[in-house]
Amino acid sequence: MVPQFKNFAFCCVCFFLVGCEQPQPADLILVNASIYTVDDQNPWAEALAIRAGDIVGVGTNADVLAKFEGPQRDLDGKMVLPGFHDSHSHLIYGGLQMSQCDLSELGSPAAILAAIEVCDQSLDPSDWLVGGGWDLSLFVDANPSKTLLDQVNPDRRTFLRAADGHSAWVSSAALRYAGIESETPDPADGIIERDSGSQPSGVLRESAMLLVENVLPAIDATVRERAARQAIALAHQNGITSVIDAAATTADAETYEALAASDVLNMRVVLAMSVIAPFFDPAPVESIEPEHRQTQKLVRRQSAKIFVDGVLEGETAALIAPYFSDKGGHGMLITPAEELQSKVIRLDAMGVQLMFHAIGDFGVRVALDAIEAAQTSNGDQDLRHHISHLQLIDPVDRPRFKALNVAANVQALWALPDSYIMDVNLPAVGPDRVQAMYPIGSLDAVETAIVGGSDWPVSSMNPLLAIETALTRQDPTGVIAGVLNEQETVSLATMIAAYTKNGAHLMHQEQLTGQLQVGKRADLVVLSDNLFTLAPHEISEVSVVATYFEGRQVFPYES
Ligand SMILES: [Zn+2]
Repeated sequence: MVPQFKNFAFCCVCFFLVGCEQPQPADLILVNASIYTVDDQNPWAEALAIRAGDIVGVGTNADVLAKFEGPQRDLDGKMVLPGFHDSHSHLIYGGLQMSQCDLSELGSPAAILAAIEVCDQSLDPSDWLVGGGWDLSLFVDANPSKTLLDQVNPDRRTFLRAADGHSAWVSSAALRYAGIESETPDPADGIIERDSGSQPSGVLRESAMLLVENVLPAIDATVRERAARQAIALAHQNGITSVIDAAATTADAETYEALAASDVLNMRVVLAMSVIAPFFDPAPVESIEPEHRQTQKLVRRQSAKIFVDGVLEGETAALIAPYFSDKGGHGMLITPAEELQSKVIRLDAMGVQLMFHAIGDFGVRVALDAIEAAQTSNGDQDLRHHISHLQLIDPVDRPRFKALNVAANVQALWALPDSYIMDVNLPAVGPDRVQAMYPIGSLDAVETAIVGGSDWPVSSMNPLLAIETALTRQDPTGVIAGVLNEQETVSLATMIAAYTKNGAHLMHQEQLTGQLQVGKRADLVVLSDNLFTLAPHEISEVSVVATYFEGRQVFPYES
């Protein structure tokens, strides 16, 4: 009788405390962590249990260990966040650049030319020298001459994309091969830079790049897949588990889909198909599959990328007031505003989510006008259109983001006084406009949904660099002095939400990821330190300890 009575008593106690349940099996239990869930109802936890790729428990150590048993990982106070969402990346394009002549991160024309020489020497005489990543701001007027390339090798056909992807530097042999000469007219929406005698001088901007790009040797599927795998490994190293590929070609889409089919993608990829841009290989509109929004498919061709304007550096970004330089124009729209509007109305009616590139204040206004016209015509279908870059926004346009349900896709790592802004943009647009650049704080103040993107390989993929810059408006590496528009700083919570919850909402996958809650997939990142305990300038020194995708550790990779 006595033992039975004891069991009865124990069971009553346990019924009131934990519902009398036996611990359930878990594949992994993270304990002793500083878990920031990005769930307002329950923002902090110590432990998290994972089973079959799902989060099955989140709470205190005692709570979770009472309910689950299985292998434990003691995180000793380290921070756990939902996996980062990079809402603007070019994984395959960047992966290809890594395997070509990579000129990124080089700080002088001499260093760039030395690197080109090394690439040249590794090639056969008949090969093209293809590469990119060079810094436009290192050259006068962002306009290097073909002569510099000809001095390396007068016979080499050379094509080198600038870091921002909107200009290319080419050799005389490449110009000859593509048939570009003094009589060649500038293509629509493109510029062939010329010397005083109207000869092409070696830089092609916007759609003019295609004159050479279209005659480059084709890239085969194996090379593309290797590039994708390399870039995905780099993303995992940076804690990234979801990405928007911000201008995907059909070949890119097929590469991601092949990796997903072999179960080695380990990444959620939303493709903004490059449908009407003059850049990349335009994909047919029919290749977009809007019905895949909110599904569990890892690769979803649910969006289209639309380039509204160019960039300030080549004076191709569209401005309300003119540039101050001798050219004195207002920049350019890639597609005339009325034509853009009818395309946007048509795509929106098909249920296609739209991702706009807009840098100048007029470009941003034209994008917002087009979205407004689509909503007037089709109603708000919750497609979650977004505008990326947003270097200049007229103050009257800022509240329109919330009103039109448009997310601001910001590249916060650009919001510092670097040589692009201080040496190239400042003379071109003047101090008043420089002091209004990248108005992230102002957008936040009018309750805009902010998401974060690296635009890799244009700049580093590391979200912690961008998060720190958004909080300080200073160079996180400490090389460049000064602050860019201190009044535009935002909070750490805002930036973490941008890279997690808001990114998941933007990608139409908020049911699956973006917050650490029971029922969501276990996409998460472990950081060496709790970001909330650090001074803002320390954030970028934090390291990624581990990245999990659907409960599997994908960084450090364990084979
Ligand atoms: Zn981009």
